[in-house]
Order: sequence, then structure tokens, then C-alpha cells
Amino acid sequence: MRKLGLALALLSMVCLVPSAFSQAPQVKVYWTTSGKFGPFPLQDLVPSLPKEKHRDVIIPVNMWVIDHPKGLVVFDTGNNAAVSDGKCNSYWDAGMCGLLKPSQKREDVIDAQLKTLGYAPEKVKVVITSHSHLDHIGNIKLFPNAVHVIQKKELYQAWWPEKFQRGGAFVMGDFDGPAREFNYLELEGDYDLFGDGTVMVLSTPGHTLGHQSVKVKLGSGKTMIMAQDAIWFTVNMEGYPAGLNYSVKDYNNSIQRLKMFRDLENADLFFGHDPDQYNQGGGKWYR
Ligand SMILES: [Zn+2]
Repeated sequence: MRKLGLALALLSMVCLVPSAFSQAPQVKVYWTTSGKFGPFPLQDLVPSLPKEKHRDVIIPVNMWVIDHPKGLVVFDTGNNAAVSDGKCNSYWDAGMCGLLKPSQKREDVIDAQLKTLGYAPEKVKVVITSHSHLDHIGNIKLFPNAVHVIQKKELYQAWWPEKFQRGGAFVMGDFDGPAREFNYLELEGDYDLFGDGTVMVLSTPGHTLGHQSVKVKLGSGKTMIMAQDAIWFTVNMEGYPAGLNYSVKDYNNSIQRLKMFRDLENADLFFGHDPDQYNQGGGKWYR
């Protein structure tokens, strides 16, 4: 009788343990870059930087692949494929090419990288776009069948930016033509993408009118926050703001917001273009 009891207890454990695990979606994230920008002086992008912190940098153009049981997600699609292999001047404003010096090759473009990781690009269910600058929204046209998640204000701004926001950072070719007819999930604030709290879109305006970041709870239980251009570099966290902002007030509030999320959840916080962070942790999976 005792043996039967033991057997039943073991059986119930075998049955219970996997179901307990299956309640936490096994989410994993791959961190990559759409080629690099630079070299150029860091102080060109962060004019408030004190002299002792001046240095030349080559910076990543962060993109993220989020593998969730309910669907494959891409967070930012990098520079348009047309600027690859030294052809920047044919697609971007010459001033932007000269400033940013993109080194992207065709194999760095998000569709090619997805294939390398073993995913068919047409399997991407959701494209989240942090904001509509040329190094983040560049390849949404490669995903005509995805749901495109963007803040409603950001869509408006992309089409008709304020005069002081122009100057080549918004490239109409990235979102005109067929992209007009895409399925946009237009947000006005935060959003729980799959309804289970694992992939949270966070409103972080300031850099642009409708910038957004993403917070992911990995299968391991660890939380990672991808700030994208809400925070470009580590030095922005040290009180030296980025030189390109729609609203410095909102920019500072968004940094504070992300810091609080980081501290509350003991999360890792990733910046949009930080070279040291990328050299340490880029090009790999987080589980
Ligand atoms: Zn950027």
C-alpha cells in the first residue's frame, strides 16, 4: 500500500512539474546590429560631453529578434537594405551618410540575419518599431504581412515631422507606398503584446514624439529592457543628454522611467547604440 502511495506521489510529480513549467512562456531574445556607424567623435552626438570623455566611436545599430511561443517578433528593422555595400548616397541624404558613415553589408540586413538564425522572414508575426528614424524603421517593407506596432503619434510625426526635426533623419521611402496599407497596431501608451506580461511595449517619448521601448521577461525569469534611442549611450545615464531630441523634458522623464523599471525588476538595461555594451553582449541569444 505504501509502495502504491509512493508510486502515485511520483506520478503526480511527473504530471505536475511539466505543467508548472509550461505556464511560463519560454521567451528568448537575439541581439544584433544593422551594420555599424562611424568612426566619429562621440561628442558630435552628445555635445554636452566633457572634454575628458571625448573619444572616437564605432557604434552598433541595435535590432532585436524575440522568439515567443505565440509568434516571432522583430524589434526595429535597422537601416534600409538600399544603403548596403557603400550605396548610402543613393538612398539617404548625403549629409546623413557623411555624418553616420554606415558600414552595413547586405548580409547585415534583418531578413538575411533572420535566415542565418533559421527563421523564414515571412514567419515574423509582429514588427515593433521604436521610432521612425532611418536606422530603426528602415526595413518595415520587408514584412508586409506582419502586425506593425508603433505609437500613433510616431506615425503622424514620421509623415509630417516638425521643421526642427527634419534634416534627413526621417526617410519617406522607408514608410511610403505599400507601407501605407500595412496593419498598424497604433498604440497610445504601454501595451502587453501577447497578454501574458512577457513582452511589454513601453512608451518612452522624448528622443522623438512617440518613441517606445520594450521589456521582455525571458524563459529564465530574467528581465531585459531594450531602451533603443530613449537612451543612446551609457554616458546619457551619467547626465549628458543626447544631442537630438523632440523634447528634453520627456527625454529625461523616459530615462527616469526606464531606470525605475530596471531597479524594480533587477533587469538588464540595453541602450540603442552603445559600443561597449554591444561589444560585450551583442550577436548572441538571451534565454
Ligand atoms: Zn538610432
